[in-house]
Amino acid sequence: MTLLLARRATRLLCMLLALCGLAACARAPMQDAYVVTGEAAFSEAPLQPCLHQHQPDRTRLTLPPPSGGWSGAPQAVVVMNVFRGEIEIRQGSRERCGLLQDARTLDSRFLAGMGTVLVPKRGDLTPIEVEFDPSPFPLWRPIVRLGEPATVQRQDTFRFSLRVASVAVMLALVLSSLLTFISTRERAFLSYAVSAALFALWMALLSGLWAYPRPWLPLGGAALQLMIALPTAMIGLTVRMLAYQSAPASVVRTVRRISDGLMLGCFALAGLVMLLPPGVLPLASLLDEIGLYLLGLVLAALAVLTLWRGEGGGVTSLACVAPFLLLGLLELTVPGTLARWKVEAMMLCGCWLALTASMALTLRLGSLRRQRDEMRLLAQTDALTGLPNRRAALEYLAAASTSARRGGLSLSVGFLDIDHFKDINDRLGHDVGDQVLQLFARTLRQVFRDGDYVARMGGEEFLVVLPGAQPQRARERIESLRGLLGQIAGELGLPDLHVSLSAGVTALLPDDADTVALLQRADAAMYAAKRAGRDRVELAPA
Ligand code: GH3
Ligand code: MG
Ligand code: MG
Repeated sequence: MTLLLARRATRLLCMLLALCGLAACARAPMQDAYVVTGEAAFSEAPLQPCLHQHQPDRTRLTLPPPSGGWSGAPQAVVVMNVFRGEIEIRQGSRERCGLLQDARTLDSRFLAGMGTVLVPKRGDLTPIEVEFDPSPFPLWRPIVRLGEPATVQRQDTFRFSLRVASVAVMLALVLSSLLTFISTRERAFLSYAVSAALFALWMALLSGLWAYPRPWLPLGGAALQLMIALPTAMIGLTVRMLAYQSAPASVVRTVRRISDGLMLGCFALAGLVMLLPPGVLPLASLLDEIGLYLLGLVLAALAVLTLWRGEGGGVTSLACVAPFLLLGLLELTVPGTLARWKVEAMMLCGCWLALTASMALTLRLGSLRRQRDEMRLLAQTDALTGLPNRRAALEYLAAASTSARRGGLSLSVGFLDIDHFKDINDRLGHDVGDQVLQLFARTLRQVFRDGDYVARMGGEEFLVVLPGAQPQRARERIESLRGLLGQIAGELGLPDLHVSLSAGVTALLPDDADTVALLQRADAAMYAAKRAGRDRVELAPA
């Protein structure tokens, strides 16, 4: 009923879509070749009023004019990586103010930072003054850039593109791992998607994209705390993931226990940061970053040890942490140079980490799945003959009879039993018995091919299933198998070995409630063949 309704609704929808398409085509030639939107403006965009709410230890920078005064050419000034408070850019009576949240709307020519273009008069000696609150994160220095507008803007746009691309890569990874989770139900992909989403959120905060073009995240003033709490939690998650992947076998338990504890500790710290007053944020940020580099070192050491011992897993881990170690080294040696591109570098390192982790996850799950498939195959295969075993045969028969019933097709089965097999064992030994079973299985496979199914049901009993075939054809096939059994004695070089079989054949009947009735009929026919003197095929009475 529901299916019928759904079918009708789909048809209706298709017809509606086709009608809409036709209508659109009919209108198309009358439309203009261009589109005009928007309306005339009646006033200038309102300037952001300066709030002048300052921290006591505010940074005041003076950018003096060249000797002889300003040249009269336009001067671009852009301030980046100021994570809180109002930024002021002044020259004489001209003053521009902006917060992180409205940095991009203040002057839309600057996207990565808050900037403006000033035009000081030729020969003017008044310096440009820039004011901002001190950075709440000691290792993330604000950047002030002065220069020719086109050059400054070009670099600003490049930075912005890098930031947007990094966030886009993270969002793509979130989406793809969510889709993989939906199709595979592997929970590892869900945890990965959650971690990547947190990472993307942190990147959006760090790059200011959370406020582009206008603040779109309801953070309620918690942006700074989140900028520390998110990476703290992320460090815990990532370290655990990499430690699980790359710990040397000898210390794997200890490493896993420590990394589990570390992750919980990081989560607790992240929660604590959200509750702490803003005054302790600088210390928390410092500890966070030092912790990141130190843990990166420990992970790299573990990965090197794993590789040294010839165990797998170290390469990915090393690849994940290497860029962060390089950042740590640059922070130690050339902090000023790093500061210029630190936000972008950190975001690119984050993308690299997420990509390599995603690759490692896919590879690991692939190998787990292969192992599972192998185990399943082993559980369904008979070790002696390599044929499907009883369990596999019953599963196959159930599926084949369902599809035969659905398609209104016939299905024949034959139950085969080697005659006097106990005698063969007793006279020639169990090993010869085994070889007879193997050769019997090989002959069975030669005769039943192309869509037919054979299995060892146990002992010296075998099952053949012929989908789409009448019992008569099954009987003919078994007869040709009987004709080939004489070869077995020849192959084993045992002239006094005589291998024969008794078989019962039947077909699926409309009244068969399940495959049990079908098998019972084939079995009964096989016993009828035994009773009739063995070495023959009997058809079950219809
Ligand atoms: P019938 O003609 O009535 O079928 O007689 P039979 O001797 O073939 O049947 P029976 O059930 O009395 O004996 C089957 C023998 O098959 C008994 C068992 O030891 C032997 N057998 C079962 N599995 C194996 C096996 O994997 N290898 C060998 N060598 N013998 C097996
Ligand atoms: Mg038997
Ligand atoms: Mg037997």
